[in-house]
Amino acid sequence: MPAASTGGILTIDLAALADNYRLLRDRVGPAVTCAAAVKANAYGLGAARVVPALHRAGCRTFFVAHLAEGAAIRPLLGPDCTIFVLNGAMPGTEAALHAAGLVPVLNSLEQIAHWRALAHQTGASLPAALQLDSGMSRFGLSEDDVNTLLAENAPLAGLAPTLVMSHLACADEPAHPANHAQHTAFKRLRARLPAMPASLAASSGLFLGPDWHFDMVRPGAALYGINPTPGQPNPMRPVVRLQARLIQTRQIGPGTAVGYGAGFIADRPSRIATLAVGYGDGFPRAIGGRGHAILPARPNIMLPIVGRISMDCLAVDVTALGSTPLAAGTALDLIGPHHPLEEAAAAAGTIGYELLTGLGARYHRLYRDDTSPQGENA
Ligand SMILES: *Cc1c(COP(=O)(O)O)cnc(C)c1O
Repeated sequence: MPAASTGGILTIDLAALADNYRLLRDRVGPAVTCAAAVKANAYGLGAARVVPALHRAGCRTFFVAHLAEGAAIRPLLGPDCTIFVLNGAMPGTEAALHAAGLVPVLNSLEQIAHWRALAHQTGASLPAALQLDSGMSRFGLSEDDVNTLLAENAPLAGLAPTLVMSHLACADEPAHPANHAQHTAFKRLRARLPAMPASLAASSGLFLGPDWHFDMVRPGAALYGINPTPGQPNPMRPVVRLQARLIQTRQIGPGTAVGYGAGFIADRPSRIATLAVGYGDGFPRAIGGRGHAILPARPNIMLPIVGRISMDCLAVDVTALGSTPLAAGTALDLIGPHHPLEEAAAAAGTIGYELLTGLGARYHRLYRDDTSPQGENA
């Protein structure tokens, strides 16, 4: 473990990320494009490292949410790569989005009109994806919008649409009736537009089966090790390990309080360790009194997080470790091989997505290299 100048260490396994990409790509087969959702700084893991690793694994199509996110990764990718901006262009940013080499997902008649106006100005047909609302009521053209659009003369003039897409609301619940309803609505609306490649599935949708793959899938979460099949074994390799350094330990007697608000009171003689990660690192305050840490050398012992999470530290009851020596600087896992992301997220009352994207910029980040399996560099 290299010396770190922070209390928290976030290790990101780019080799596992690349394996996850290849697993998903092989699952959909060569006729289907496997894109990658890298919005929110690649779900908090660092787009600057994640995007090139995905590119080396063969990915050529990327999805971000904002123009700024797309502009940040554009220099990392060659002209053979497409970057779609899911939220589309905010009014007035169309020319900037185009100049940055990005392709908007057009979500509304207004966005279509603005993109066509830019095409008119530039005198060229501009690439775009069209989003259809198949039932999630969040993005895309409704059936009425499609009617309005198609009632126009040359409704798509100036556009070179390369993709028609929609998004599933309940794909992580395979038996949910909304899945088939959305699938049917997507096919119906799509058939009214000129023929073009289509995409419906993200991570969980991809696991609903080949009917859901169309021409492109857009996984994000599964790439980063989040289980796309909740309630079933996780087919993905874990990508993230979060460790917190030990600052000190103390022995306390029954009746002694720990942390802000005296949120925990020992009911027996206890050994308490203070670890150098807190909510200021994006480790959720809601996990106080509910989560666990693990000493990697004793992976079977779940050490309860006790009391409230502070900004810069948290307390763990390490009594179960007996007299195991615990030197200052020892790294304990908050997320790791014996304590999956989902368990930590559940303890915080949230999901892996939110926990990952919330992990702040404060950690020391180690990237385990995808090009040399043993390699590790910061
Ligand atoms: C975030 C997002 C994805 C990726 O979703 P995951 O569940 O992380 O795989 C795909 N498509 C759209 C439209 C999204 O917003």
